Amino acid sequence: MQYRELKRCNNIKVSEIALGCEGFIGKSREQYASMMNKAFELGINFIDMYTSDPSFRDNFGAAIKGRRDKIVLQGHICSTWENGQYLRSRDISKTKRAFEDQLKRLGTDYIDIGMIHYVDSVSDLDEVLGGDIIKYCTDLKQKGVIRAVGMSSHNPVTAIKAVETGLIDVLMFSVNAAYDMQPPTENVDDLFEPENYKHGFVNADPLRTKLYELCARENVAIDVMKAFGGGDMLSEEYSPFGVKFNEYQCLEYCLTRPAVASVMAGCHSEEEMEKLTGYYSASREQKDYSSVLSRMEKFKFKGNCMYCGHCAPCPVGINVADVNKYLNLAIAQGGVPETVREHYKLLPHHAGECIACGSCERNCPFEVEVIEKMKKAKEVFGY
Ligand code: SF4
Ligand code: SF4
Repeated sequence: MQYRELKRCNNIKVSEIALGCEGFIGKSREQYASMMNKAFELGINFIDMYTSDPSFRDNFGAAIKGRRDKIVLQGHICSTWENGQYLRSRDISKTKRAFEDQLKRLGTDYIDIGMIHYVDSVSDLDEVLGGDIIKYCTDLKQKGVIRAVGMSSHNPVTAIKAVETGLIDVLMFSVNAAYDMQPPTENVDDLFEPENYKHGFVNADPLRTKLYELCARENVAIDVMKAFGGGDMLSEEYSPFGVKFNEYQCLEYCLTRPAVASVMAGCHSEEEMEKLTGYYSASREQKDYSSVLSRMEKFKFKGNCMYCGHCAPCPVGINVADVNKYLNLAIAQGGVPETVREHYKLLPHHAGECIACGSCERNCPFEVEVIEKMKKAKEVFGY
């Protein structure tokens, strides 16, 4: 397992592959315990607790008893359970009651990330950030009951606006190659609508690109939901591209977007967890999503680096995908932010070492002019 830091959350390290909670629903308390034992054994230390069904928190609290300090919990705020039904609420009394109940059932006095639940429309965001909900979250953070304020969303317009306020430390966002081609929407169902994939796309939606770059610049970590598009991406029949991805390609795609810290995967069994963590022993070919994207006739990514790494190896050892990523972050900022400068410095080889052999350009399925980009990176970073 590899880990990434949540920079605005005391630099806590979270596993790149993390758990969503839907796979626990309907299981016995013993099964919760054995799934969590397997998660710890595989190095998974991060879980999103979206479900508002209280039995989840009772069973999960029992499963992590005595191991609270070994797990990073992302608990939702504004998600309530009334009369046997999940409700998204902006009612402050109900929100407080639900959050206190969450702590009690989990048997803990803190949640690492207090995630404001599901804000997709700008009007809802204005209500959340202009009223009692954000005050409640910042108060919890000041008291140490949560370590970071999070927000979940599917809409880049809303997410950008939220991140720009500086109030959000962690963003839970739906990321996969298909959604990244879709224009922003306040209705999450649009992202699943086959009609919306019938026309061709030239490149990734610029607002999503802007969101990822903004989060990287502001040290707002993204944890990913819907990496597999609810399973659609893995199916020849339902993949909006008409070509299926495998699990490792989906993980690789998400983990190579700027600012992404973790992918929340809804594993239903210990076997599924083992299969996903096989990502670390998978071959380069198994993880290479460029082979799928470049085969699709309706989608053309000409000239833009997709950070896929397909152009490797470079004879002097330059990681072209990473150099391009840091270059794009610097260009988007109009200067080089300190964090990007540090990341660039840590690369074992730099753009200035490029000997213009052209091997990467011959290998790139998206016709990226890498030699020009290396020259630009040398100019921007100085080496
Ligand atoms: S230059 Fe091309 S092959 Fe290399 S990482 Fe970018 S898109 Fe992928
Ligand atoms: S052109 Fe430059 S970056 Fe590309 S493979 Fe050759 S040396 Fe590496």
